[in-house]
Amino acid sequence: MRMQDKVAVITGGASGLGKRTVERFLEEGGRAVIADIQDAAGLRLAEELGQAARYIRCDVTQEADIEAAVALADSTWGRLDLMFNNAGRPGNPNPVETMPVEGWDATFAILVRSVMLGIKHATPIMKRQGGGAVVNTASIAGLVPGSTATAYSVAKSAVIQLTKCAALDVAQYGIRVNCICPGVIATPIFGRSAGVPSQLDARVAETAAANMAGFQPLPRTGRPDDIAEGVLYLADDRAGFVTGVALTIDGGLSAGMTPEQRQRIWAPL
Ligand code: NAD
Repeated sequence: MRMQDKVAVITGGASGLGKRTVERFLEEGGRAVIADIQDAAGLRLAEELGQAARYIRCDVTQEADIEAAVALADSTWGRLDLMFNNAGRPGNPNPVETMPVEGWDATFAILVRSVMLGIKHATPIMKRQGGGAVVNTASIAGLVPGSTATAYSVAKSAVIQLTKCAALDVAQYGIRVNCICPGVIATPIFGRSAGVPSQLDARVAETAAANMAGFQPLPRTGRPDDIAEGVLYLADDRAGFVTGVALTIDGGLSAGMTPEQRQRIWAPL
């Protein structure tokens, strides 16, 4: 019961990494506000989980929505121990040459500005109670250029830098700010172009993550559980001396090639 009596706000909590983190947080004794724009999925999850969960419609591109999600945690349970700024979707896919300004700005609004707003509105409550943990979802795309399209990659890189800068801003209040950099994890984010989840997305996700297992040093599919465990670690008081860190959870993908993978390239020569 590592999260006994702790309270979290989890954006993008209705699906994928956020959903699994909500479930694990509650299994460990915590309570959570699920903040998302998928009302049906979010309400269903909150109902399944019972009194320890609440759903709120929260579009993370809207400051008032984030403020309301944080306020709901505070008014319901009187505190906020984990702010998990996780909501996201694929960014604009264009190369710079044809990048529409609106597409660039929309990518940054959802992936970067939302994280800044989450930290901003969590801070007064965490300050009041003498501390707390913020975890932001970045990506290995923020570490390794070219692993995804430009706008997403640059936005996730900004999340890593924002994590470190904000960690410095709020350290004086006992607030820790860290981020996770997932590799390829089987979630509905793959294949969803119109923001509508479907069975097809689930199959695409499985296939993409399973294919990636062939490239990773650890040859298995990345699962939301792998990420949720990292978030719980960073939320835990036992990580009380950890702040400003980007925790990569990618099966070794961004570390480089294994001797066997190098051999496959050089052997034919
Ligand atoms: P997902 O699609 O399963 O979950 C994302 C959730 O965010 C969805 O429930 C969606 O409704 C919500 N969301 C989208 N736009 C929103 C908005 N404007 N306001 C509020 N909620 C919104 O995908 P996921 O893989 O769980 O993605 C979670 C985070 O992980 C994202 O930030 C994503 O960029 C990041 N990420 C995922 C992977 C991966 O391989 N799955 C890898 C690296 C990073």
